[in-house]
Amino acid sequence: MPKILIVGAGYAGFYTAWKLEKWLRKGEAEVTIVDPLPYMTYQPFLPEVAAGSIEPRHAVVPLRSHLRRTRILGGRVTSLDHTAKRAEIHLNKGSDITEHYDHIVFTAGAVSRTFPIPGVAEEAIGLKTIEEAISVRDRLLTNFDKAAQLPKGPARDRLLTVVVVGGGFAGIETFAELRSLASALLKDYPELDFEDTHFHMIEAMGRIMPEVLHRTSEWVIKNLEERGAQLHLNTQLTSCVNGVVELSSGVSFESELIIWTAGVMANPLLRKTGLPLDDRGRLRCRPDLRVEGDAGIIEGAWGAGDATAVPDLSGGGVAGYCVPNAQHAVRQAKLLAKNIVAVLRGEGPTDYFHKNLGAVAGLGLNVGVFQSGKFSMKGYVAWLAHRGYHGLAMPSFERKFRVVSGWWNNFWLGRDISALPMKEHPRAWFEEFASRPAPAAKKK
Ligand SMILES: Cc1cc2nc3c(=O)[nH]c(=O)nc-3n(C[C@H](O)[C@H](O)[C@H](O)COP(=O)(O)OP(=O)(O)OC[C@H]3O[C@@H](n4cnc5c(N)ncnc54)[C@H](O)[C@@H]3O)c2cc1C
Repeated sequence: MPKILIVGAGYAGFYTAWKLEKWLRKGEAEVTIVDPLPYMTYQPFLPEVAAGSIEPRHAVVPLRSHLRRTRILGGRVTSLDHTAKRAEIHLNKGSDITEHYDHIVFTAGAVSRTFPIPGVAEEAIGLKTIEEAISVRDRLLTNFDKAAQLPKGPARDRLLTVVVVGGGFAGIETFAELRSLASALLKDYPELDFEDTHFHMIEAMGRIMPEVLHRTSEWVIKNLEERGAQLHLNTQLTSCVNGVVELSSGVSFESELIIWTAGVMANPLLRKTGLPLDDRGRLRCRPDLRVEGDAGIIEGAWGAGDATAVPDLSGGGVAGYCVPNAQHAVRQAKLLAKNIVAVLRGEGPTDYFHKNLGAVAGLGLNVGVFQSGKFSMKGYVAWLAHRGYHGLAMPSFERKFRVVSGWWNNFWLGRDISALPMKEHPRAWFEEFASRPAPAAKKK
């Protein structure tokens, strides 16, 4: 039986496996998926998880309960030898194994891209994983708790200052959602005033959200400023050592929460695969999602999602390639599954064609923007569109139900503002009070 190995169970990997389960006949191929995480993360929900509007576990899709006919390997692919069709895998339990395959599907996504700015590696946090979103939420809530015990002054200001670096879609959504959370929290903190909270967005370009028209992005800036946020455009972060933020404009302030969302790059694992990459380190794919080198198609190698450079035949891409987003990752994955099945049956694969549907963003409770071509919506209706779209786009009825019922609960009860800071040291209290054996009596 041919063996299909999927590297990465994010959007593209999960959907490829899900659709292969649907379209492969019994005994037609064996599908294995490898990922260090036991779930697929619905990344567009991370800003709402950070803001306490979605329960973290509802924003992920457990692989075991959704992929019934796929072999799931908890581990990390560390290198590939495609000539020998062999993948080296470091399993979560600590040992290494070699997997042989006939078809490899590379869907290991992208990672946060940073620059060597002093302090970023030590102080900042990204927003690509559910754990990061949980940590951001807990940090903001804990900072509020600490600030409420302090008099006005620099120490309190530092705790109540939030910085987001990078004004792309994910950065602005995160920034706006956190602003919304902070404003909502104030009613529970009579010790703190609105003016005590400081929100800084730092963007190197002269505009935010390149995915929407200029006038829509201007509206977002105005809306955020009205909500008490400061946007530093044409400005770079030059240092954040020990939380002291320094900007290229000469402005400086301290912050206890610095979030880095200034771009992503294709998974660096690709450099250990020997597969053909473009100048940005992305896997070179044909429109039919087969990997292609200078000498032509690489048989048995496929790719989709953020890790790849797939030509955008609709003409709407950047430099001719699909932009890295979930819209493409999901649709490419569905086609990829169909194309593998076609090739296994001796048929020809089909080219990927998808015309961008537009972009929709949530900017905190009751505020959003939607852009499709020249048409845009702003404010409450766009926020409803954002929730409607993502509520439906979340895979499986079971997950949709959890997310939507969470929103319904929050509508009546408000968002849950309990932080769980002890989760970082869950054994601390047990250890403190645990009885220990008496020290052995000294020998005479
Ligand atoms: C905050 C945020 C908001 C976003 N909002 C939107 C939005 O509103 N609309 C939209 O279209 N897009 C949005 N995106 C982008 C979208 O989420 C990505 O484009 C999409 O997740 C890409 O899917 P992927 O499968 O290529 O990668 P991912 O979903 O990132 O999956 C990659 C998987 O590979 C695994 N992996 C990594 N290394 C290895 C390895 N060595 N071995 C095995 N597995 C490995 C990872 O654990 C992960 O599970 C957002 C992204 C973020 C971060």
